[in-house]
Amino acid sequence: MITDKKKFSQLRQSLGRLSNDIKQLINPFFSEKPVIKGSVYELKTKCGKPGCKCAQGQLHGHMVVSASEKGKTKLRVIPSGFLVEVQGKVRRYQELRRARKNLVEVHKKMLQVIDEMEAMRREEIPVSGKINASS
Ligand SMILES: [Zn+2]
Repeated sequence: MITDKKKFSQLRQSLGRLSNDIKQLINPFFSEKPVIKGSVYELKTKCGKPGCKCAQGQLHGHMVVSASEKGKTKLRVIPSGFLVEVQGKVRRYQELRRARKNLVEVHKKMLQVIDEMEAMRREEIPVSGKINASS
């Protein structure tokens, strides 16, 4: 029998909230839209030609996707005309990763709550004391 009804009802509410959170967090995973792993930024470079403006400090800018593959950071230049599309796909990828990270957190909290609820409901077998092992 649950002695602390108030506590149990709070835990029940937490469980409900957490399961709503999970429903929200798994939403982006139902999508089929493509994603690109990494992050987009502008890489500034010098081309090395002596007369170029980059020699005076006006570096060349390239939009790149940076992503780690097998522990190494790989840079890929985004072809001109593809920036908006690539940015969108990268943003979607980052949303998935964020949602996944949050899911782990919510899941962890949910386990704490259900463990606590289970502990509050747990009972022992009533003691009868009439059976002895040798009979
Ligand atoms: Zn240059």
